[in-house]
Amino acid sequence: MKIIVPVKRVVDYNVKIRVKPDGSGVDTINVKMSMNPFDEIAVEEAIRLKEAGHADEVIAVSIGPAKAQETLRTALAMGADRAILYKTDLPIEPLAVAKILKAAVEKEKPGLVILGKQAIDDDSNQTGQMLAALLNRPQATFAFKVSPQGETVEVVREVDGGLQTLALRLPAIVTVDLRINQPRYASLPNIMKAKKKPLEEIDAASLGIDIEPKVKVLKTAEPPTRKAGVKLKTAAELVDKLRTEAGVLQ
Ligand code: AMP
Repeated sequence: MKIIVPVKRVVDYNVKIRVKPDGSGVDTINVKMSMNPFDEIAVEEAIRLKEAGHADEVIAVSIGPAKAQETLRTALAMGADRAILYKTDLPIEPLAVAKILKAAVEKEKPGLVILGKQAIDDDSNQTGQMLAALLNRPQATFAFKVSPQGETVEVVREVDGGLQTLALRLPAIVTVDLRINQPRYASLPNIMKAKKKPLEEIDAASLGIDIEPKVKVLKTAEPPTRKAGVKLKTAAELVDKLRTEAGVLQ
């Protein structure tokens, strides 16, 4: 079985986000970019499934600009076998990503597509679900454990107040949650080896798929700055403030 893992290049999670002065979006010029953290978890899960004998090949796929090659090389250094970049410089929405991933699935015929539950830049949490709908295949979101068993895969999901176990017929779409594993670091020898692994580049426009943005962003704004705190000398002062200013106490 092949596993496809879609990986997105996003602003590194340690970077303090700056909104563009005109509010049209987030500033990405001279900003450190990395693989979406949930996608690192998805790559790790796919590699572990391969190591456990459930898969023969892990294919990392990214949709984005030429620079997304770096993200794919990271996936290859972690242990993916090969990579495909669907190159586009257009801003790309989850539906367009899902349509391109559908084309990748039709080309590669994987048993599993393992995605992150969400990309931390847009926090959409849509792509996996849309891909499952477009392919008319079963999906399990927020996965905590993934166990392929012959023609099916058992997925334990994190749901409100507990865990839910599903059995899906393969091929299936799974999106992973935070606690499923701890992704490995790519070692230096593996980073070197990754440079020689195959990375195919396909012009997204050549697929003949409509990937024009359908959603208009009206405004992007930074969260309001927090008001400065005050230091109080006594508990009585605190009780008084809670009563008079915060309205917490009667
Ligand atoms: P989202 O629906 O945008 O929150 O993203 C959910 C998941 O879809 C991510 O964790 C990735 O696995 C995948 N994904 C989203 N955008 C891309 C992209 N441009 N290239 C590859 N994978 C993507």
